[in-house]
Amino acid sequence: MKTDTPALAPDDKINWLASIPFLGIHAMCLFVLSVGAKPVDVLVCLALYVIRMWGVTAGYHRYFSHRAYKTNRVFQFILALVATSSAQKGVLWWAANHRHHHRESDTELDIHSPLHKGFWWSHMGWIMCPKYEQTRFEAIKDFARFPELRFLNRFFLLPPIALAVALYFIGGFSMLVWGFFVSTTLLYHGTFTINSLSHIFGNRRYRTTDTSKNNWLLALITLGEGWHNNHHYYQNTANQGWFWWEVDISYYSLKVLSWMRVVSDLRTPSDQVKYAYKKYTPEMQAELKASTDFWGAVSSRKKAAEDKVREALEAAADHLPTSAPAPQALLKRQ
Ligand SMILES: [Zn+2]
Ligand SMILES: [Zn+2]
Repeated sequence: MKTDTPALAPDDKINWLASIPFLGIHAMCLFVLSVGAKPVDVLVCLALYVIRMWGVTAGYHRYFSHRAYKTNRVFQFILALVATSSAQKGVLWWAANHRHHHRESDTELDIHSPLHKGFWWSHMGWIMCPKYEQTRFEAIKDFARFPELRFLNRFFLLPPIALAVALYFIGGFSMLVWGFFVSTTLLYHGTFTINSLSHIFGNRRYRTTDTSKNNWLLALITLGEGWHNNHHYYQNTANQGWFWWEVDISYYSLKVLSWMRVVSDLRTPSDQVKYAYKKYTPEMQAELKASTDFWGAVSSRKKAAEDKVREALEAAADHLPTSAPAPQALLKRQ
């Protein structure tokens, strides 16, 4: 019995044709083999990774999805523009989908739960599925009222294309390959780790109804998003690293911007939230430790499904002819 296979819905299918641009960006990275690695190109690649990752975490995630701080309308547009140049679709699409993820975390309705839909689906399969293509406007009414954001959301391909063209004219084909294709591919997978790996590897400090983890390595790659268990426990804070050792570069930059009065009202967790784990009973702590194991969760799901079948077979045993094999034997044979 294969109960540990991901529970994809029948319409959870990949549209390969529509995914050609997404996969094409990956394929274009192969040109590094012919253009080599000029230091200036590699530097531009890294700089654009950091700038656009910042747009995604400080903008798409903390501002547009969670309203974790305030800013003016001009800077709000700049945030959306920088993040849109990451080629991760439109601002309203991204934030609305993300709000949905928090509402349904690791339930069967979660668009990208590794627990229910498997690693690859949570990492990138869902992006290539036509089912999730449309913006869920009902979930993002607060920002959908700005016409400039609706425009960016609709023409989300413009900023990344403009960036690619600019890189080509500034530094030629090699800068296009490194600065756009390699950088954007790294950015994709850096961001996607939060949907996949952050729900699989790491530690859990807080009790949440999902499998979110805190992971320092993912926090470095994503400028602070790897403190994902903190984040799932209390979503609306501008910082996701809550202790001094939890490095959160996005938050440090927001702090600097707040001194410059570009952003304001950065929300941070109260002590009650931050230290809630200190009140956990030893049983709760033990449960938290045990639940950090993703593979353990998969195998317990498998066992639960097997138990169900066993019970059903045992219940049916009374009605079986005496010549039929015992229920346990039936189970083993599958
Ligand atoms: Zn999550
Ligand atoms: Zn979030």
